[in-house]
Amino acid sequence: MELLVDDIVPEYAREVKHEAREFADEHVAPNAEEYFRDATYPEDVLEAGQDAGLVAQDIGEEWGGRGLDVVQMLAVAEEWFRADAGIALSLQLASFGAEIVEKYGTDDQREEYLRPVAEGEAITGLAVSEPDTGSDLSGMTTTAEKSDDGDEWVLNGEKYWIGNGVEGDWLTVYARTGHDEDDRYGNHSLFIVPTDAAGYDAEHIPEKMGMRASKQAHIVFDDCRIPESNLVGHEGAGFMMLAEFFNFGRVVVSGHGLGLAAAAIEEAWAFVHDREEFGRTIADFQAVQHGLADMRMEFEAARALTYRAAEKVRDGENPSLWAAMAKTKATETATDCAEQGMQFHGGRSILTDRRIARVYRDVRIPVVYEGANEIQRNLIYRQS
Ligand SMILES: Cc1cc2nc3c(=O)[nH]c(=O)nc-3n(C[C@H](O)[C@H](O)[C@H](O)COP(=O)(O)OP(=O)(O)OC[C@H]3O[C@@H](n4cnc5c(N)ncnc54)[C@H](O)[C@@H]3O)c2cc1C
Repeated sequence: MELLVDDIVPEYAREVKHEAREFADEHVAPNAEEYFRDATYPEDVLEAGQDAGLVAQDIGEEWGGRGLDVVQMLAVAEEWFRADAGIALSLQLASFGAEIVEKYGTDDQREEYLRPVAEGEAITGLAVSEPDTGSDLSGMTTTAEKSDDGDEWVLNGEKYWIGNGVEGDWLTVYARTGHDEDDRYGNHSLFIVPTDAAGYDAEHIPEKMGMRASKQAHIVFDDCRIPESNLVGHEGAGFMMLAEFFNFGRVVVSGHGLGLAAAAIEEAWAFVHDREEFGRTIADFQAVQHGLADMRMEFEAARALTYRAAEKVRDGENPSLWAAMAKTKATETATDCAEQGMQFHGGRSILTDRRIARVYRDVRIPVVYEGANEIQRNLIYRQS
């Protein structure tokens, strides 16, 4: 059963989608179970992805990448997340947030920081969430203050859940630079922070139940000093730049949901056509057939919405609304399909080496990251 069919994918995005499928078949799927079980960071797969010219390739050609757009990144995401969400997340996080530096950074920043990521020499990440604040972007408390001589920014505070906080070479960090209560959205800025900067300390967060082949960090900034020139864009524009970036990111996360939903449907379909009860396969029961039909319909609806949203975001047509709708629908389709897939597996659903059990745990994550789905619903309602 092939669910991630090409026909809905714009023609120009099909080639990279096929490359992503081939790569997933060779490098991601075969390692999925073991890397999940052992919570292994997939360094070898990441290197292979960089060599194959598939990692961090949304960075433009001028800076060493392929300039893949949001539709192409979505096509890659659904293929990789179908194969395994944990490894896929590690592959996609290698350039997470670098897009902001590409759009708003200076040429010097792009040359020094962006090019190595595009060329597979470095990896990066985006540090927004904090131990005490996640959804409230305007409430983040990590501060960045100018040093007395004005040559440096000095960061203090903590970040939590940060992909590549330990493994990365540098991060784009969101920090408070103002305290104007009447302008809550103008109080934060973004900074390029090398992970070897003095005062930067990161360790992995405790083991997770899902996406175990990806690693997140707890970061502490203790008078962490970075050059004055590492401010990205304008002081106070952090919230705006982040909100814009999330339109792109949320479409890609929709691809996480689609890939996971496809994995759940494939797995459920194969199981019910093989398992026999009452002298027939359980796929012969109409209730099971209806369950599969519902999964298929939800999947197709989510995929149609997502590709529509990707084109809207690409073309700048009410991107925040469309990205929020696609992210919510696709990630919740994944949770629904995983839930039904588990039920159809009966007792075997809870055997931890089963693909369906892995998917069931992984689907809990995209409904939360890049903005919990309640936040997406706020955005959808306000912009409808
Ligand atoms: C595997 C993983 C990887 C991640 N990677 C990164 C990363 O690389 N960089 C980064 O910065 N962050 C990352 N995150 C953090 C992620 O973005 C946050 O978990 C997410 O924004 C939610 O924040 P929170 O966990 O603090 O939940 P909270 O903000 O505390 O929210 C908890 C729950 O409260 C409810 N809620 C909150 N606000 C509202 C509201 N306004 N209306 C209705 N309900 C509400 C929702 O049900 C929500 O799920 C990652 C998270 C995970 C799990």
